[in-house]
Amino acid sequence: MTNEDGIRTQESVRELSSVDGETAVITGASSGIGRAVAETFVADGADVVICSRTQEDVESVAEELNEADVPGSVLPVECDVTDRDSVEALAEAAVEEFGEVDLLVNNAGGSGSGGPLHEVEGDEWDGVVDVNLTGVYNVTTAFSDALREDGGAVVNTASMAGRYGVAGMGPYSAAKAGVSALTRTLADEWAGDDVRVNAVEPGFVATPPVREMLDVEMPEREGADRRIGQPDEIADTIRFLASDAASFVTGQTIAPTGPPNTFEPPEV
Ligand code: NAD
Repeated sequence: MTNEDGIRTQESVRELSSVDGETAVITGASSGIGRAVAETFVADGADVVICSRTQEDVESVAEELNEADVPGSVLPVECDVTDRDSVEALAEAAVEEFGEVDLLVNNAGGSGSGGPLHEVEGDEWDGVVDVNLTGVYNVTTAFSDALREDGGAVVNTASMAGRYGVAGMGPYSAAKAGVSALTRTLADEWAGDDVRVNAVEPGFVATPPVREMLDVEMPEREGADRRIGQPDEIADTIRFLASDAASFVTGQTIAPTGPPNTFEPPEV
């Protein structure tokens, strides 16, 4: 949209970077980054389906957001992304409620208990890979028809651990590297269906597990020279990738980390 001078209007530029009117599914949205994505999307006007393993947890987030003065609405659904039946039920619930799905944010994940790889038990390996990598496969394939029917966007939450391969986080690093690779694969495979597929590779983000591990407060959202970010800052990067402002961006990973090439635990 342009004005009488042939210049793009403020309204059209804002519209492009918005997810207003879209229907989105966000996994792992009971806390941290996923919850921040849900809040950002409904504040912007999207309807969202949020999931996590415990109904009570997603319900309390949905209640809080649905009671707030925001344009979008929230449907909470209990779903374990490692369980294909549970994921199929999530897809059915989403389509039944909203009729279509435009955006998928594969965010559910966690780093596991950690330790050197030679001490990692098989069960621990399986658990971390299941939730972080196989979960993305399960959910993405379950929503494949809905997303490809009318075009859309997928944003996966990978990690800087996947880019660098962090000591003591072998299963997590490998699984997240897999997520970034899968992002590029799927971007090629689904480009013809007009589905863009991108990922974020956050550095340290002050979500509940990280705040507990590092014993840090929520940082201020100011200054580029930081080693720890707010969940909202990752949500805003995800919103950009989900929006039409990123219409020529697919198969990419954006790393909201603070300064590049300095990935290290923040000083606490
Ligand atoms: P979090 O613990 O606050 O949130 C994780 C969410 O995933 C929760 O809602 C949890 O219930 C859900 N979840 C876990 N296993 C699940 C399963 N099997 N099925 C469905 N839901 C499940 O943690 P977070 O830090 O917000 O992490 C969100 C994502 O960001 C994860 O993929 C994580 O690996 C990634 N990440 C986090 C950071 C960070 O510093 N916090 C950095 C890089 C990447």
